Amino acid sequence: MTTWIDTHCHFEADDDAAALLAEAEAAGVMVLAVGGNAALNATAEASGAPFAQGYDWSCEATPPTIAPHPRLVAIGELGFDFHWRGPETADRQRERFEAQARLAERLGLPIIVHTREADALTRDTLRALALPRAGVIHSYTGGIPLARDFLDLGYAISFSGIVTFRNADALREVARFVPADRILVETDSPYLAPVPHRGKRNRPVFVRDTGIALAAIRGVSPGAFAEQTTANAWRLFDLGRICTEKSS
Ligand SMILES: [Zn+2]
Repeated sequence: MTTWIDTHCHFEADDDAAALLAEAEAAGVMVLAVGGNAALNATAEASGAPFAQGYDWSCEATPPTIAPHPRLVAIGELGFDFHWRGPETADRQRERFEAQARLAERLGLPIIVHTREADALTRDTLRALALPRAGVIHSYTGGIPLARDFLDLGYAISFSGIVTFRNADALREVARFVPADRILVETDSPYLAPVPHRGKRNRPVFVRDTGIALAAIRGVSPGAFAEQTTANAWRLFDLGRICTEKSS
């Protein structure tokens, strides 16, 4: 069976994570459960999947504690967001960003980076940090020049269902540009369901729809693209450390 990896999904408190993971597994989809605040960190860890924990741009008063765990494969999501938070929070966002980057460095883990209306700041911060394991820019929506900068810094670029949206021609150009060994695919569920599920609550199994669309955009077969993106995720998150096989 073709194996995809949804490298970025969230489980909310009212989600039946076990059912979503079973549905994904039956369809050949592996899942990386991503945190970003205390509640999402808890559901990610409890899901039983490989997971990431972090604390985001929401500037919670007390950042959650992140401890080493055998299934903890990345720190995140973390990042800058000036869509949901105003520029007056920039210093605090930067402080949180840098603290988590240093934690990732200490733990020897990659980071999962969110950037919204903050692209140059994110790039400049990552350049200054010069992390040895880099990580991934998730749900990428920027242009080609910025993608080139992130790639030069060692980061992978991950595409969500946004790349399937009708008005996303510019993003599809970026998806053609990213080198085969640096591209990942994700759902960011429960948000951003890809075409043809747009408007529904997103689920990890829908990563196949985004992956198949990306394969067509890049002119490769879905099977080859699944194999490539799964190998990329396997290497980036060192999944061999916790999983025994990537295909069945
Ligand atoms: Zn997310």
